[in-house]
Order: sequence, then structure tokens, then C-alpha cells
Amino acid sequence: MQGGYDKLPGSDSGRFGQGLKKSAMLAAGTLAFGAIAWRATGDWSFGNFQVQEAPKCGRIEPLKPSFNKSIEMIFEDATFRDESLAKLSGAVRIPTEIQDVNPQPADDLDYYKEFFRFHEYLAQTFPLVHKHLKLEKVNHVNLLYTWEGSDASLEPMMLTAHQDVVPVNPDTVDQWTFPPFSGHYDNATDYVWGRGTGDCKNLLIGELEAIELLLKDGFQPRRSVIVALGFDEESSGILGANTLGDFLYERYGDNGIYSVVDEGGGIIQLGKNVFVAAPITAEKGYVDIEVTVSGAGGHSSVPPDHTTIGVAADLITLLEANPFEPTFTSKNPIYGLLTCAAEHGDKLPSSMRKAILQAPHDKKQREKMVSFFSADKRLRDLLRTSQAVDIIKGGIKANALPEVTTFLVNHRIDVNSSVSQTVERDLALIKTVAEKFNYGLFLAGEEIIPPTKAGFISVEPQKSLEPAPISPTVDSPTWDLFAGTIQNVFQNGHFKHEPDTEFYVATSLVSGNTDTKYYWRLTKNIYRFMAMVMEADIMRTIHSVNEHIPMSGHLSTVAFVYEYIVNVNEQA
Ligand SMILES: [Zn+2]
Repeated sequence: MQGGYDKLPGSDSGRFGQGLKKSAMLAAGTLAFGAIAWRATGDWSFGNFQVQEAPKCGRIEPLKPSFNKSIEMIFEDATFRDESLAKLSGAVRIPTEIQDVNPQPADDLDYYKEFFRFHEYLAQTFPLVHKHLKLEKVNHVNLLYTWEGSDASLEPMMLTAHQDVVPVNPDTVDQWTFPPFSGHYDNATDYVWGRGTGDCKNLLIGELEAIELLLKDGFQPRRSVIVALGFDEESSGILGANTLGDFLYERYGDNGIYSVVDEGGGIIQLGKNVFVAAPITAEKGYVDIEVTVSGAGGHSSVPPDHTTIGVAADLITLLEANPFEPTFTSKNPIYGLLTCAAEHGDKLPSSMRKAILQAPHDKKQREKMVSFFSADKRLRDLLRTSQAVDIIKGGIKANALPEVTTFLVNHRIDVNSSVSQTVERDLALIKTVAEKFNYGLFLAGEEIIPPTKAGFISVEPQKSLEPAPISPTVDSPTWDLFAGTIQNVFQNGHFKHEPDTEFYVATSLVSGNTDTKYYWRLTKNIYRFMAMVMEADIMRTIHSVNEHIPMSGHLSTVAFVYEYIVNVNEQA
């Protein structure tokens, strides 16, 4: 997962994808009670209040595949486990690091040599996949596997992951307990160590491993299975998933895909023996707004009351004094997390559990809930548009007035909002400052207030992405099949020997983005999910030193992909 992106569906503005490294998953991992979510079973909204049905964190009926030759082996067989570990470790040992700025593969193939080594490794490691599936290399480095189904009238199902990993900072190598590209396995803890173990070679290898097993078991899908593996997700997928998305759209068209499963939320512990799966069913939007204050130059010995730097400072102060209001509706998948935590968890204060559960019917409780979560730095940005002034430039010399001062505000847009609402909100605040200092004002080159002798302020939205369409979870057989499969994998697989465990499936949200932003046209059923228990410690190390996962989490990932492919083919 990554925090920013470039060429944006539904947007033609600008290029970015630089330096936005913060893992989206960190947000989820640091929640006081973990990153859980729930299942929206009704529609109610906070501002414009409507109740159809209160949300519930109910237990789902596990969906057992009837073709299940390898399931027990995946969970129980020590030899399989060792072989699976070797496959994952080998993948981690190939350092497919991606930088913020990367050349087009056609211009510099050598730049991607580790990726080509990785391709060879996959061919050796998964011989049946490479014998029976069609492999296309899109833009030289993307891998697109197609397992042809027997019924061409059915939309293919699509599994994705990315080949690239966040670079290891050379200054931090000695902080790693085990070397970052060792793929070291520690028997005492069951942890596999190394960059990419959690984000997300575990998923990539898990997908190919499950298909290799299904081929070995003689499974023949009715519905084609596509595996699409980008190579620069950590720098916004500009060269990778972006081109894959266009390629797949050309081939399959609007809603031509049954569902997309990509990296995302995992299994969270809510309390003693209580776990919930938290697939992410939406993503926040994005916009960078560049503000330029242009004023008169001149000698610093005869300055105006406010230089362009002073005006910019006033603007920034005003923006920061006005954070976006939280919006909180049933549309926000995070409410699912809250409902499950309230119903079944033991980590929230009881007054808050009550507030969450009564929110649909009781305005006071609703307000209490919103203010509680708005006060939590780890949660509040899941309920509102965030703003961060990230860049500022102005002035070059002690005795020359700065003619131009520029700063940039980065916004992650609330799932209930939009790019235009965000721009409008900023513009309204900026207008008050323009009036205060008697400046002109422009939005994207269009005059709003004529420039004055003092100068003018320009507002340029530079890169934008609307919030992702929210994947349907109500009255959606596609969601039900997906959730039922997860329930089975954990209730009857991963937690089979812990019958006291309660397990739920919900929806969730984190603040960052994935490659799925290039796949919106292909399907409305996009699930960002990794079928493994995410301990808080694991979340903290993604994108950082000491990235690691439990091997048991890799096995549950393999089992999930295996069962999901079978269930889709048997039931959908
Ligand atoms: Zn990732």
C-alpha cells in the first residue's frame, strides 16, 4: 500500500507520486482496538438523519468449498509449510525495490533487472502456473497471468498484488533484527522477516501458490482467473497498474471483471478470543492544492505591512485553524469496525460501546460517538478530509522583498466528500484572506477577484482523485460469497483448534491507497484484504525496519485464495 498517486482516474491534472510513503496500513494498525470494521446492513446518515436498519456485526455462515483437496494440508502439513516458507523467503531475497521516480521500462530495462530476476524466480517456483496459464508482460515488467475458464461468458475474477517493495534505507540496515532481504525464518516466533513479507510478497506468492496447488489438484475453473501484478505500487502505480488497468479495460470493458482482490486490511483481534476480518471497501480521495501569493517586489528597507510570506502565513494559519468537520454516515466502512468493536470487543469504554450501538436511533449518542472518534488522532482522519501543508517556498534574499510565495496543501478526501467540495472549502477560506489584504484571487487561472496593486493569490488544484466508489456489501451476492469464504477459512481452518474463538467479517477503511484506483472501471466489487491475523507489531513494521509476518498468516493467505477461487467457481 502507498499513500499517494499519479495519473488519476477521472482527472487529468498533473503528475505526482513523489515521496508519499506513509503506509496506509499504519493507520489501521495503531487503532486502540485494532482495525476492525463492520458490515453495513442499513443506511443512516449523521447530518441528514435516516434510519433504515441499524448496523450489526453478525456472524456469517461459513462458505465451504466442496472441492477442497489441499485445504487440510495447507493448514496442517509440516512439509507443505516448509516448502511454502521456502517459496516466500526466496521471493523476499530478491530486492525489487522501487524509487519515487522511475524510468519507463522501454527506456531503461536494466533499471528493472531485479524484477526480471524475480520473474525467473516465479517461473522456477511455480512451474504449473507457468505451464497452464497465459503470461503476458504489460509494459515489460507487469505480469498478467490468465487461467482460462471453461465458460467464456462469465466475467473473470481478478487477483492482484505488487512485485515492488519500499526501499530499505541504508542507514537503518543495522537496526534490522535479521537482514532486510534475508527472508529469515525464526522458529521460536513463527515469523518470516524481511522487506516485502507483509507488503506484499506474501499476497503475491500466496496467490500463485494457491493456483499452483489447484492445478496440481486437477481443478478446472469455469470462470477465468486473472492475476495482475504491478511493479511500482509504492510510487503510485504510474508505470505499472496504470498500464495494466488500461490493458485490462481494453480487453474486458466496463464491469467486465467479477471482483478484484488486492492487498489491504487483515484480521484484527477485538478482545480475548474475538477476531474480525476487516476488508477495505473504499478509499479516500486525494487533491494537492498549490497556493501562490504574488505581490510587489522591491527593497526590504521600505517594506509593505505584509510581504507575500506574511500573507501566506496568514493563509496557512487560517487553514490550520479550520480543520474539516467529520462526516459520519453509514456509507463510511469504518462504522463497521466500530460496530464490531462495540458489540463483541472488550477494548472500548462501555459508554462508547453504547454510543456506537445507539447512534442510529439517538442523536445525543451519535454526537458523543463522533466527538469521541474525532478526538482520536488515529481515527479522526477516517471520518473527515485531512489537510497538511507540506511544501513552502518564498524569498531568496535578505534585502529583496519576496515577489512570490508558494505553498502546497495535501488533502485526503473523506469518502462522503469530493474533490470539488474540498477545493471549494479551501477557496472560501482563502477568499477571506484575499479580501483582508486587498489581493486579487484566481482559481485554476480563472479570475474571482481582479488583481490589485497589492497583488493576487492563485489557487491551483494539482492532482486529484475522487474517493473510490464504495464496494457494495448490502444485498450483494458477490460480497456474501467473499465474506463467507473468509469466515470459513478462519472459523474452520486457521482457528479450527481454538473452538472458543469468535470470528466476524466486517468492512473497514484506512487512509491510504492501493493499485485498485486503476481498476474502478473493471468492477464495483473491489476488496482490499489480506487473509492473515495482523498483530499491531506487524502493522508498525510495514514500510519500516523489521518488517515481518507470522508464517501462519502466509498459510491462511494461501488457503483463502484457494477457497475463494473454488467458491467463486462453484457458487457464483
Ligand atoms: Zn502494498
